Amino acid sequence: MSGVLVVTEQRGGVWNRMSWETLAAGQQLAAQTGGSASAVVIGGAADELASKKLERVYAVQHDLLANYTADGYTAALEQLIRKINPSIVLFPHTYQVRDFAPKLATRFGQVLISDAIGFRVESGAPIFVRQLFQGKLNADVKPGGAAPHFASIQAGAFRAEQLEAGSAPVETFAPTLGADTIRAKPLEPFRESTRAVDLTAAEIIVSVGRGIKEKDNIPIVEELAKALGAELAASRPICDSGWLPMERQVGSSGQTVSPKVYLAVGISGAIQHLVGMKGAKTIVAINKDANAPIFEVADYGIVGDLFEVVPALIEEVKKAKG
Ligand SMILES: Cc1cc2nc3c(=O)[nH]c(=O)nc-3n(C[C@H](O)[C@H](O)[C@H](O)COP(=O)(O)OP(=O)(O)OC[C@H]3O[C@@H](n4cnc5c(N)ncnc54)[C@H](O)[C@@H]3O)c2cc1C
Repeated sequence: MSGVLVVTEQRGGVWNRMSWETLAAGQQLAAQTGGSASAVVIGGAADELASKKLERVYAVQHDLLANYTADGYTAALEQLIRKINPSIVLFPHTYQVRDFAPKLATRFGQVLISDAIGFRVESGAPIFVRQLFQGKLNADVKPGGAAPHFASIQAGAFRAEQLEAGSAPVETFAPTLGADTIRAKPLEPFRESTRAVDLTAAEIIVSVGRGIKEKDNIPIVEELAKALGAELAASRPICDSGWLPMERQVGSSGQTVSPKVYLAVGISGAIQHLVGMKGAKTIVAINKDANAPIFEVADYGIVGDLFEVVPALIEEVKKAKG
């Protein structure tokens, strides 16, 4: 094999949805480099992968892989990669992948090109694009040295809907692992608490970002949400700062919402935020920077200072409602 191998992720029988996005990236990369794409799943069921357009699906099975460990996954994948010789190995950029994939890459004298947002192919070879300085710059990264090359794909960078269906044979791969290979003793995986707020059911969402400047200003957008009968949501920095609870976060590491109206207030429109809200029917953005990426997805945009625009909006909404 000289194509693309996509490493997918499943835990307790549940797929990490970034697997499908990375698989779509893998299919596109294979098509553009004239190779084929295959996929591998460790310790999980491979049936769903077998219904995609792939050359082969590898189901890696071993008792010592029942729980994730960096040692176990690295050893198993190293053996598979040495057997099938892909030219590129793609991963979804999940927390788990960040834990083991750099170590796996170094086994081949390579590095992991991490968190890529895209690629292009020049003279048959891929060049990956990574964001620097919080998305202010895009850098081209050309894999060097002998294949295989390793890259992980950012959440939301590719669309799972673009995945091509097909039929692929499943091959079981049993790596040689000894108990002494695995130095870590896995405990129960971290579980998120159940969410008290279900933003997915909201028809109107007013979402606030770092443009709000400080916690004491949150009531301004709260009032707008109240006037519109909307749920209040936020970008990640707002929740990370504890200004609003985590369950109100929209984006790749928060909730995915698809309301009738999504009003983004002081949100720049980073890709991790966009993946959580681009399914909204109508997107309205208020931002003082006319070049903010949020305007690329917005149906209606107001370029202005939210501290002037939001109070004026509240007044108009109240008037309209009588
Ligand atoms: C692995 C990972 C996962 C992530 N997951 C998420 C996620 O789930 N959700 C998420 O949102 N982010 C997520 N992020 C973070 C994401 O990359 C961005 O950093 C974040 O979305 C930026 O939030 P923001 O738009 O509120 O802030 P900023 O990017 O700082 O944007 C603030 C915006 O406010 C505007 N502004 C400033 N003052 C005013 C004013 N007075 N009036 C009007 N506009 C004003 C500015 O022009 C700017 O566009 C993730 C990042 C990583 C690496």
